[in-house]
Amino acid sequence: MIELIRELYPICRSITGNGVRETLKLIEKNIPLQIHEIPTGTKVLDWEIPKEWNIRDAYIKDSSGQKIVDFRNLNLHILNYSIPVHATMSLAELHPHLFSIPEKPSLVPYRTSYYTENWGFCISHDQLNDLKEDTYEVVIDTDLSDGNLTYGELYLEGDLRDEVLISTHICHPSLCNDNLSGIAVCSSLAQEMLKKHRNYSYRFLFIPGTIGAITWLARNETGSNLIKYGLVTSLLGIDSIFTYKRSRQGNARIDRIVEHVLSNWPGKSEIINFIPYGYDERQFCSPGFNLPVGNLTRIPFGEYPEYHTSADNLELISAKALNDSLAVFRKIIEHIEADRNYVNLFPKGEPQLGKRGLYDNIGGRNDSKTMQLAFLWVLNYSDGKHSLTDICMLSGLELAIISEAAYLLKQKGLIEEYRN
Ligand code: ZN
Repeated sequence: MIELIRELYPICRSITGNGVRETLKLIEKNIPLQIHEIPTGTKVLDWEIPKEWNIRDAYIKDSSGQKIVDFRNLNLHILNYSIPVHATMSLAELHPHLFSIPEKPSLVPYRTSYYTENWGFCISHDQLNDLKEDTYEVVIDTDLSDGNLTYGELYLEGDLRDEVLISTHICHPSLCNDNLSGIAVCSSLAQEMLKKHRNYSYRFLFIPGTIGAITWLARNETGSNLIKYGLVTSLLGIDSIFTYKRSRQGNARIDRIVEHVLSNWPGKSEIINFIPYGYDERQFCSPGFNLPVGNLTRIPFGEYPEYHTSADNLELISAKALNDSLAVFRKIIEHIEADRNYVNLFPKGEPQLGKRGLYDNIGGRNDSKTMQLAFLWVLNYSDGKHSLTDICMLSGLELAIISEAAYLLKQKGLIEEYRN
């Protein structure tokens, strides 16, 4: 994952353009992707695909000919989606086009202007304060013209048509935690899922923020009802708490599964209710779709000091944090794959386990007491309403033992799968 992030870091991405294409090409080294190109002007829900943006170069030179700001040193220096400019100007004329963060004077901010035509440079506040009266040459060598919006998709068919959606944004330039960590973890997870037997079908989306999700929803409205579990994710590279924002439904299966996994994970985690602000769960959970899609991150956006600045770089993230994040996803998928509801076919009184040989299954085990408890929990809560994850939550028992108990009870004809 760190290797992929190192390769992706220098690329200047945006919501459209060759940076997105290059990014998807690098992801394709690990997993096959279907690449979609949607032309400028296409109506998508209430939006329209914007012009495509590409950048070759951008700098500010002082009157001695020295480049004082150079896009080639750090792509955050350009206001993302800047229109082309070639002009000379005074400091007073340049000033409204310079962006900095006074509270973090040594850092370069990340700023965009996707839907309002503008141009500008992002610099540290220290540098801004040091600028002298002079005649500056401003060069922004960009194209903003008809083209396409590009996104990548991987669909993995499972035994069921019901789907698990995993979506991450790919539109940020040289920023590691927000969004390269999400790309890396989703790619690795997809790579693992490719090789596994899948009960559910899986759909991985690598899309530009907001407009990408809106575009995908516009093109996949029919069929979006197959999504039974969904996670929008990013911010997975810092060793910090996990944060889960529930879907708009609030008590969807995915909500219960993630809450269960995080509550049993070592270290602190935080669960928050849905708010219509944040990442692309805003689109998936818009009332016309209201899909069971939550948002899983570590420390949330805006809550770490390096957020959307030049300090969100390779030094900020760690392989350990990425691996832990991937492990949480693995555990969530384990629960999703085992997520079934059963009905007890002998609900009046406890069925006699001994005469069905179920005690033989547990006799010699050192966890026989736990196994017996697992039988009782599964039998009692197999009422069609409680899933195996719900039974884990109620009993405090591990998924592995609850699943095994359910498997054995089903074999003996005591429970059957319930599908509504
Ligand atoms: Zn961001």
